[in-house]
Amino acid sequence: MAILKVARLGHPVLRRVAEQVLPTELRSPQIQSLIDDMAETMREYNGVGLAANQVHTSKQIAVIEILKDPRAAEGPDVPLTVIVNPQMTPLSQELEEGWEGCLSIPDLRGKVSRYTAVRLRALDRHGEPMDLIAKDFFARVIQHEVDHLNGMVYLDRMKDFSTLTHLAEWHRYWLGSQAQDD
Ligand SMILES: [Zn+2]
Repeated sequence: MAILKVARLGHPVLRRVAEQVLPTELRSPQIQSLIDDMAETMREYNGVGLAANQVHTSKQIAVIEILKDPRAAEGPDVPLTVIVNPQMTPLSQELEEGWEGCLSIPDLRGKVSRYTAVRLRALDRHGEPMDLIAKDFFARVIQHEVDHLNGMVYLDRMKDFSTLTHLAEWHRYWLGSQAQDD
């Protein structure tokens, strides 16, 4: 396994819609080891999610893992979840503001409105279909990662930039709210 270099905002790969992954391609050793490396890279940088285009591979693959962490106030743990070719539909009219950060936009945090519940249909790493309902923070992370795979970042979803803050200032002036990097 290896820790991969993370693309930063401005790299064109982050702004392209990632390609669908064919089932035969998904089973290849190259893609399987990419998935392992993405999980390792996400953990190395204390992220809760990582999309393949963030590691310079324009494919519809993302990894999510939310483990007990003082920063994660709401919701249950989510073990390592690999999503391939995700299709997401909102299940709530309701939007909730919450802090987000991004491994591709280091040292910044901002408040983003997200649906509080979503339905996710995708393939798992073995090509098996999955169909799940996610709420609260898990739903937020799914929306953040699916945005990445569609060439978007959380800044695009902020209604204004009044909450955009550097990490040190976030700790100093805003701490108490939850934030993690995806
Ligand atoms: Zn991100």
